[in-house]
Amino acid sequence: MKPRYLTKTRFKLACECPAKLYYTAKKEYPDKKNTDPFMLSLAEGGFQVGELAKLYFKGGHDITALGYEESLAQTNELLKQENVTIYEAAVLFENLFIRADVLQKRGNKLSLIEVKAKSIDTNEEEPFLTKSGYVNSKWKPYLYDVAFQKHVIVSAFPQYSVNASLMLVDKHALCPTDGLNQKFKIVTNERGRKGVVVEGVSPEDFRPRLLTQINVNDIVEIIWNGRDQKEPQPLSFFERIDLYADYYGRDEKIQTPVSAECGKCEFKTTPEEEVNGLKSGFKECWKHQLHWTDADFEEPTVLDVWFYRGKDKLIEAGRYKMADMVEEDIAPKSDDKEGVSTSERQWLQVEKVKNGDASAWLDKDNLRAEMESWTFPLHFIDFETTMVAIPFNRGRHPYETIAFQFSHHQLEADGTVCHKGEYLHTARGVFPNYDFVRALKRELENDEGTIFRYAPHENTVLNHIYRQLKEDTGDIPDRDALCAFIQSITHPSGSTADKWESLRDMVDMWPLVKRFYYDPHTGGSNSIKQVLPAVLNSSDYLKSKYGLPIYGAKGGIPSNNYRDWQWIVTQNGKIADPYKRLPRLFENIPDEALDLLVESDRLADGGAAMTAYARMQFEEMSDYEHQEIQSALLKYCELDTLAMVMIYEAWREWVA
Ligand code: SF4
Repeated sequence: MKPRYLTKTRFKLACECPAKLYYTAKKEYPDKKNTDPFMLSLAEGGFQVGELAKLYFKGGHDITALGYEESLAQTNELLKQENVTIYEAAVLFENLFIRADVLQKRGNKLSLIEVKAKSIDTNEEEPFLTKSGYVNSKWKPYLYDVAFQKHVIVSAFPQYSVNASLMLVDKHALCPTDGLNQKFKIVTNERGRKGVVVEGVSPEDFRPRLLTQINVNDIVEIIWNGRDQKEPQPLSFFERIDLYADYYGRDEKIQTPVSAECGKCEFKTTPEEEVNGLKSGFKECWKHQLHWTDADFEEPTVLDVWFYRGKDKLIEAGRYKMADMVEEDIAPKSDDKEGVSTSERQWLQVEKVKNGDASAWLDKDNLRAEMESWTFPLHFIDFETTMVAIPFNRGRHPYETIAFQFSHHQLEADGTVCHKGEYLHTARGVFPNYDFVRALKRELENDEGTIFRYAPHENTVLNHIYRQLKEDTGDIPDRDALCAFIQSITHPSGSTADKWESLRDMVDMWPLVKRFYYDPHTGGSNSIKQVLPAVLNSSDYLKSKYGLPIYGAKGGIPSNNYRDWQWIVTQNGKIADPYKRLPRLFENIPDEALDLLVESDRLADGGAAMTAYARMQFEEMSDYEHQEIQSALLKYCELDTLAMVMIYEAWREWVA
């Protein structure tokens, strides 16, 4: 039997919720976040960072063995040397096991360097602590990770003094050379494992450095002494480690009180997974703690109330279901603007559950007034973007926004719809942003029609490119025209120094959904991926129009990526989710899993596209595979803008 050691990943999981340790890596408990760590780093744009860090510590030895025994034996053998640098060093103390990113030995001194693909503002005086001297919650998982590793190393090697530091991406650093990120390539070995090979780097690639090393010994002391947060913990840092390791070793669950955090639990199942005999960790916890039966889970819980901060209070008071809520829990209040305020919308959601009312709500008058202010033709656009740690070009900062794809639907005054245009930039190692804006300009500069986006993302991205254009010292012949175009369809975001006002500023459909429309079938979510199936289920107009194979058909709706496609298809008495009928971007990983991994300002629905782009940039693949990914990306993005068209069409039907 494989030993059951507490590793740094498992420790991190237990810090989120100790009960999760029991469910992790068990086939019978589906895990929505369970994906290859390599895919995770791809999705986050930082897969090259670990390899770049190794280059800063020349002459190190890579522990490539994966098994516990072999990796420990290799590490211990190397540690016999007086001075040595080890990458992925394996260290075991009792039932705690770590693989340290970099471990340096100099005589009787050990240095642990934990590398993270996370950017840091090096101008900040004390980035890791709050003003009151507690650990900043943003950095807590990273610092706990180092504190855990240092504890293991200190315990395993008491004869050494141990230094701990974090190596992070310096937000203000400038990339020293062109093409640096293309020197890190993803390859797949004969056993199907992906890895990174580094080719052609030169000393110039490290001057100046993109990564910065920060000593965190003091912070580790604060964590070890339990002074990292205001509220005292019932168990010390070391007692928690012992508890987690003990229960994990015996494969016993640490029964943990349910809380608002359960809403984000990755151990939830879909009905299909349950039919297939898989188990829900979430349900097991709630059944155990609250003595619930399967029937209880049929009712919406307080966890589902949209954007509501009082969940823990209700749970503490023993009220778990929306049906148990009363108006005072939310105290809905108008904000004197058109439509509903946040609290009014929350109460609308709860009230509909309490009344068993599944009908959609629409503020017809205000929505109609808003719609009457729009100018035809209407344009619906959506961007796919990413951020890569190592920039494409010299002089660029790490994690600058890269805009690589858009889709554009156009709708005429007579209701005619067409997929007007699209853009996808996949050429390797080429910074696409200016070309992206040129293509967008060609699409939108031909009339004064209203432009729609869903969420602030498109405005943020265009502001970012505006600043890049302004700051770029290179020769860009159409710089002024591109900046003027961006100004014409956006408003300045907080960090843009220039100020302007545009009569054609893009209209965000997301706040319109939030203020004027609520459909209980969305389950309280305003993500376009939830709103689309809801409107398809409720709109007779959409059902009759898209219930025929007219999309991409001769004489039907022109499309760039679909042929004779019928969007409305019934499965088990319900309209099938259009997104679920698209080809997957990745064979073995649901797109939703990748979306969950990416935290960004948009509606967390771009993770799969980001990962696909990163693969096309950095992975060696066949032309066929490349084509397949491109084709899937184009289909996804086209559906994103078609979804906006469909929401508009349903509203037009309902306000008439
Ligand atoms: S359901 Fe709640 S208590 Fe159970 S594992 Fe998930 S987060 Fe923890």
